[in-house]
Amino acid sequence: MAVLPILTYPDARLKQVSRDVDVVDDQVRRFIADLEHTMRAGPGGVGIAAAQVGDFRRIVIVDISSKPKHPGHGRLVLINPEILHWEGMRVGREGCLSVPDFTGNVIRAEQIKLQALDEQGERRHYALEGFEARAVQHEVDHLDGLLFLDRLVSRRNDLFARKVYSS
Ligand SMILES: [Zn+2]
Repeated sequence: MAVLPILTYPDARLKQVSRDVDVVDDQVRRFIADLEHTMRAGPGGVGIAAAQVGDFRRIVIVDISSKPKHPGHGRLVLINPEILHWEGMRVGREGCLSVPDFTGNVIRAEQIKLQALDEQGERRHYALEGFEARAVQHEVDHLDGLLFLDRLVSRRNDLFARKVYSS
């Protein structure tokens, strides 16, 4: 497995829209293993999108189990994820491996429903809430070329310099 280099803001490739995965095969699974390795090598990484390593297939990984205060499903590999339902709104602080020097306050849905393919190419449905729902919305944004910076209401009030990356 390899730790892949992560694109960082303002790299223009982070604005690229990713395309669907046609077939979930061994090549895709090998890439997912590298992507996960990259996520876990980073400080405090609870999610990663393929676009962050310059691979523009619609693949994200989320695993918030390192944040024991927040219940979740453990390791989620989401291929071609589609959010079907949003409910509730809440402001929360987000960071990003591609924006290492800042965190920001972002409004996200409190609960979401989504469908995605798993690593076997099977379609699965998920109901997520709280921090896990936030993490998935953040990662799916990467597939559409959006960073949390694009969702700040005000850079002046909602963007914070990060001195030490605390996980
Ligand atoms: Zn991110």
